[in-house]
Amino acid sequence: MSTKSIVIFLGAPGVGKGALSRLCVEKLGWKELSTGNECRKHRSEGTKIGQEIDFAIKSGKLVADDVIIDMVAEWLKENISLTSAVILDGFPRTTPQAQGLVDLLEQKEFGSLRLHVFQLVLSDEKIVERLSSRLVCTEKTCQAVYSTVYDQFKPKIEGVCDLCGSTLVCRDDDNPDTIRERLRTYHYHAQALLDFYKNSGYKIEIIDVDQPAQKVFEGFLNVADVHQ
Ligand code: AMP
Repeated sequence: MSTKSIVIFLGAPGVGKGALSRLCVEKLGWKELSTGNECRKHRSEGTKIGQEIDFAIKSGKLVADDVIIDMVAEWLKENISLTSAVILDGFPRTTPQAQGLVDLLEQKEFGSLRLHVFQLVLSDEKIVERLSSRLVCTEKTCQAVYSTVYDQFKPKIEGVCDLCGSTLVCRDDDNPDTIRERLRTYHYHAQALLDFYKNSGYKIEIIDVDQPAQKVFEGFLNVADVHQ
C-alpha cells in the first residue's frame, strides 16, 4: 500500500478486528476508527443520538446508516491528514454504508485516498467462544479488549487494563441472546456487502484469524504488502 489508504476490516463481531487494528496502530502508527467504540462513547456521554444507539446496542441491532455515515465522515475530516492509513473497524456493515463511504471518498478533500478491503474469517462456533470470554476496558477513550481464557489476551493483573489501569468488564451485549442476534444481523448483511465490493471492482483479501494475534498481524502485512 503506497498511497494514502483507507483500510476496511470486514468480519463478524468478535472475529478480532479490534485486536488487529490495535497492532496496526501500535506497530505501524496508523489511526483507527471503531464505530462500535464511537457508539459506546455516545451512549455513555448521553449525547443526542446516544439513546437511539443504546437501544440498538442492547438489542444487538444496527444503528441507522445515516447516523453512522455522519459519524465516520466527521471523524475522517478531522483525522485523515494525520496519518498514512486509517483503519475502519466495524464499518461499513451494510451496503448503504459502503455506498456512503464510496460517495464520501469522491469528495474533493478525500480525492487521493485508496480503499483496501480485508475480510477476517472465523467459524461462528469460535466467535461465540471468543465473545463469551471477552473483557473490555471501562475507560471510554481506551476500550482495550482482553480475554479471560486466551493467554495472549489476558491482562497482566486480573480485572485491570494493562494500558490505562481502569477496570475491565464484560460488555453488556456479549451475552448469549445478544451474541446470537448480532451474528444473525452480521450474516444477513455480509454477502450483500461482499458483493457490493466485488461488483465495484475492489479486491477482497482474506485474512485467516484462527491463529495467534501476532501471526494474524504478520499475515495481514504480507497480504497488504506493508513493511514495518
Ligand atoms: P461492535 O463493537 O463493532 O461490535 O459494535 C457494537 C454495536 O454498535 C453494534 O452491535 C451496533 O449496535 C453498533 N454499531 C457499531 N458499528 C456500527 C455500524 N457500522 N453500523 C451500525 N451499527 C453499528
